[in-house]
Formats: sequence, C-alpha cells, structure tokens
Amino acid sequence: MVMVYCRECGAKHSDKAKACPKCGYQVRSSDMDKSVLVYVLLACFLGFWGVHKFYAGKTGQGTAMLLMGTIGWLLILPGIAVWIWAFVDFVIGLCSFDEPERIFGKK
Ligand SMILES: [Zn+2]
Repeated sequence: MVMVYCRECGAKHSDKAKACPKCGYQVRSSDMDKSVLVYVLLACFLGFWGVHKFYAGKTGQGTAMLLMGTIGWLLILPGIAVWIWAFVDFVIGLCSFDEPERIFGKK
C-alpha cells in the first residue's frame, strides 16, 4: 500500500482507496494503476522503443515507435525521428503530473 495525496484537498490517503476519506473526491482508475512518473521514466530511458506508449495503453503508437526504433535505424531517419518523438513525449509527461488523463486518457 502506498500513501498518496488527494488531488482535491491534499489529504493523505491510501492509493487503494476509491475516494478521499476527507473530501470524498472520487479517485479515478487512471490515478490508481498508472503513474505519470513511470511514464516519464520509460519515455526517458526506453522511449525509442515506445515502451511508454504500451504502458499508457496506446499499443498502435507503441508498435510504430518499436518498429522505428529497431528496423527504422536501417534507414537512419526513422531512428532519429523516434528519438525526437520520445523526447517530446518525455517533455509532455513532465508537464502532465497534474493531468494524467492527458497521457492515459479519460476512463
Ligand atoms: Zn480529498
């Protein structure tokens, strides 16, 4: 169990809680099972294989990045493009700690 801060009132509560015990704020499933921090770290270190896209559930984009990051290097340009793509995702992730739905979508 991990203690997390309520997004509404800032009170500490369990990450397993369905709602904040203090203000009753409903914790969405995306808040509970997916972490923006993990997404950012994956984009930073494994982004050129699209691992962060698979983590965010965007399998199509993840597959595209995986192909570009592997066989794409044979053509050089896709390999470079996927580095830039991963870097953009990394920056977007850094700006999305308050809005995980920007990455993971609304559930
Ligand atoms: Zn609260």
